[in-house]
Amino acid sequence: MKHILAAALLLTATPALADAASEAKVGAVMEKLRGDQAALRVFLTQMPKGGDLHNHLDGSVWAEDFLAWADADGYCIDKTSHTLTPPPCTIAQVEARGLMNRDPKFYAATIDALSMRNFFPGTGTGETSGHDHTFVAFPRFGAMMTGHLGDALAVTRQQAAADNVQYVEQITGPAGAFSPALLGAISRFDPQDFDADFRQVEAQLPGLIRAARAEYDAAEKAMRAKLKCDTSSPDPACALKVRYLSFVLRTFQPAQVFAQTALGFALADADPRFVGVNLVAPEDDAVALRDFSLHMRIFQYFHRKYPKVKISLHAGELTLGLVPPSALGFHIRDSIEIAGASRIGHGYEMTFERDAAGLMAAMAKNGVAVEINLTSNAISPGVKGAEHPLAMLRRAGVPFSLSADDEGVFRIDLTNEYVRAALEQGLTYTDLKTAGRNGIRYSFLPPAEKTATLATLEQAFDRFEARVIAGLVIN
Ligand SMILES: [Zn+2]
Repeated sequence: MKHILAAALLLTATPALADAASEAKVGAVMEKLRGDQAALRVFLTQMPKGGDLHNHLDGSVWAEDFLAWADADGYCIDKTSHTLTPPPCTIAQVEARGLMNRDPKFYAATIDALSMRNFFPGTGTGETSGHDHTFVAFPRFGAMMTGHLGDALAVTRQQAAADNVQYVEQITGPAGAFSPALLGAISRFDPQDFDADFRQVEAQLPGLIRAARAEYDAAEKAMRAKLKCDTSSPDPACALKVRYLSFVLRTFQPAQVFAQTALGFALADADPRFVGVNLVAPEDDAVALRDFSLHMRIFQYFHRKYPKVKISLHAGELTLGLVPPSALGFHIRDSIEIAGASRIGHGYEMTFERDAAGLMAAMAKNGVAVEINLTSNAISPGVKGAEHPLAMLRRAGVPFSLSADDEGVFRIDLTNEYVRAALEQGLTYTDLKTAGRNGIRYSFLPPAEKTATLATLEQAFDRFEARVIAGLVIN
């Protein structure tokens, strides 16, 4: 009996020991590549990356894709701002159809306007900072998402598959989130009586949820057709697991924020594809700053109403210079403690949080993870290197994952963020594995799916490590 037990222990212990030995060997390979960024990129491209928890669907589409769709749909492009709108085109616009051949210079300038390509502060189309150029890009391509939701789901899944990602939580929303029926539903908003506010919007929700479900059914069907998922030669992107987070625009007026939040929570409660809610748009915007505490209370109200719906909030996407010191010090704590966020995005304002040590200790204890977006932070507003709090968060034991925020706008991919984390933040192979695992562990997947997805990731790590050791990844 005793030796059977010992044999059983050995059987369970051996794979773990083998795993640790492989991880150490592969870690040593990566350390040798530190001075060779090109080779490091080759290595990290093939590394499995687990979960990507901060991925705006629209911002992750590349300008070239938007322009191809605009070409096919005969859209119009504003001559000055490069904003894409449906036809008919006015004298102030050019036709997108055939633009690449007809006017390659304007085509190229449009790519620059829809992204951070060739962006140099103080030049370009009127904006003066990386922050402003980033956020001004979104309304320029926003109209292209209508009618191309399925295409957007397809191209972003292909990018995730190319990065060897297992799971993505995409920030998106239904068209109904912008409908006049929803945004105009609350004519008498009372910040002190959320029940009365909710009664004004409640009747709109079932219809908007039905429409949202139909919209995503159709978009996913189009995505599956585009990726040939139901054929004998499916695109590798078909294997990717994807869930959605509904967004609420924090720059809207209070009644509209309340109504959008109501729809976001109700949709996540009704449709398992939507696993949570997020607040988006610049946190440093004047309205967003003015209404921050109100937004926290609105989220708290809906968190109580829909306790199963998870919350991840952009929180602490703020720094000195962007906002006055009076606006710093409490956004991360309030997002967690008042609004009920179980994850936060960016969080570089941690540097300025009152009692940062206490807050980080609580986040570590309660498993509140931070979605880290290094390139996004480096460009908008310029927080990078030792100024970025990632090292401090890691020392405090705060869980983190790595994400790209807006791959299309920043013209990066998740692999780029892994390279950056290794070179700029000194992360080792083991640290990067932790980031990938955290992308699933701290996801909003139901527990059984989380366990299964983590198992898939571990198998992918094993295959990758065997290939690295066999010299098949980099030599
Ligand atoms: Zn974001």
